[in-house]
Amino acid sequence: MKLLEALRAALGAEHVLTDAAAMAPSLSDWRGRYHGAAQAVVRPANTAEVAAVVRIARESATPIVPLGGNTGLVGGGTADGSGRALVLSTQRLRRVRAVDAANDTLTVEAGLTLHEVQQAALAAGRLFPLSLAAEGSATIGGNLAANAGGTQVLRYGNARDLCLGLEVVLASGEVWDGLRALRKDNTGYDLKHLFIGSEGTLGVITAAVLKLHPLPAARLTAWAALPELPAASALLARARGLCGASLTAFEVMSAPCLAHVAEVMPQVRLPLPLTAPWFALLEISDPESEAHGVARLEAVLAAALEAAEVSDAVVAQSLAEAAGLWQVREAIPEAHARSGGNVKHDISLPVSAIPEFVASTNARLEARFEWIAPSVFGHLGDGNLHYNMGTRAGVPVATAFAHEAEIRRLVHEAVAARGGSISAEHGIGQLKRAELALYKSPVELALMRSIKQALDPQGLMNPGKLLP
Ligand SMILES: Cc1cc2nc3c(=O)[nH]c(=O)nc-3n(C[C@H](O)[C@H](O)[C@H](O)COP(=O)(O)OP(=O)(O)OC[C@H]3O[C@@H](n4cnc5c(N)ncnc54)[C@H](O)[C@@H]3O)c2cc1C
Repeated sequence: MKLLEALRAALGAEHVLTDAAAMAPSLSDWRGRYHGAAQAVVRPANTAEVAAVVRIARESATPIVPLGGNTGLVGGGTADGSGRALVLSTQRLRRVRAVDAANDTLTVEAGLTLHEVQQAALAAGRLFPLSLAAEGSATIGGNLAANAGGTQVLRYGNARDLCLGLEVVLASGEVWDGLRALRKDNTGYDLKHLFIGSEGTLGVITAAVLKLHPLPAARLTAWAALPELPAASALLARARGLCGASLTAFEVMSAPCLAHVAEVMPQVRLPLPLTAPWFALLEISDPESEAHGVARLEAVLAAALEAAEVSDAVVAQSLAEAAGLWQVREAIPEAHARSGGNVKHDISLPVSAIPEFVASTNARLEARFEWIAPSVFGHLGDGNLHYNMGTRAGVPVATAFAHEAEIRRLVHEAVAARGGSISAEHGIGQLKRAELALYKSPVELALMRSIKQALDPQGLMNPGKLLP
């Protein structure tokens, strides 16, 4: 039977999209930087149907590109231009399979959005702490495939740390049922970790057992103006010392990022005037009470003001005010997207190395390109910066993209020289595939290729992604 006929028989014709307009949203990435082509976009409804798609595709050696919410930032979910691939959308895998509040676990299918997973946890009186600006569209399967980070990594870890078990359709078309809800299981290689962060190159994640946490009694959020970037590291250390595990987020933003938000999205209200060069957003999740949390946060800020680490600060007085502070932070990528984007780097470094890295790399870039405008923000508590390069007012953003390769090389060399990573949370996809060859050792690359060869010998799972 021909490929499309077999797929229609397995899924129903309405779930095998071949019409150009119907396929279009699944063939370009969120940033609009990658455009691909496909024989069809298929929408299986359950694990058995995913397995059927993979088996049918294998017969004609047809490549498969798994796709969740399509919010990835590295082109990992966009097919190549050959038109040979099948895009396998997970968006109909939508069941909550089990809630075990006593075990603090939730078993969900891959196509639920992160927001829906958070809501399912909340309905069980628990917290699923993974959180990122794209959570209304990003799927939990995509979060795991990309090992997403987000704003709560400081306290709860990234997607990998929040997953106990997986179900995966392998490239062979077999189903691996690894849906174990155990916190201790030393029975050999921990296979789930191969698939988490593999960006769809080893198999299709169809379901996961997720770790839940107690809901905090209160969440307190503050916004602080900082006289310089090293003050952010000092404030982070102070907040950690005084709050311990209650410190759930610590974000930094440079003033130019926030000025850009104010310009492009004037409806977003900035909490403090942009008279300082850097700002921090701190969040405390207090297990006792709101009053206890406020007292702790105020103690941190008072000591920081005294030590001149902070020049001004506000503590959100209500949930709405707290949401308003997060909205400012989360508006930064949206504001850049609206004005044509910028050259993005998603790097991590030891926290201690960050102030020197930013000062010296900004200086080198500004010496090389007089038009460059650094826009730096990120999850300082995790040592993760979105170190992005745009252009000064009046210079088209295209100028930055025309020099993308040189900018990227300069930044990544500086990161590598300090023992950092060129992809802290967004992954490799198509965007950084060539770069990976430069910054992984031959031994590490050979190990990665052996794993790919063992699990996907025909190279059908998301070809052209991740591995150089
Ligand atoms: C505004 C905005 C803010 C963001 N903030 C963050 C952030 O703070 N932290 C962060 O880490 N990321 C962030 N991202 C990136 C993105 O949201 C995450 O990478 C997210 O985890 C991707 O989920 P998705 O369902 O959209 O995956 P997709 O974009 O659909 O796919 C991403 C990759 O995973 C693969 N994939 C998807 N589903 C599966 C599956 N079920 N099985 C196997 N492979 C699969 C795809 O082939 C692709 O390689 C942000 C993105 C946007 C647009």
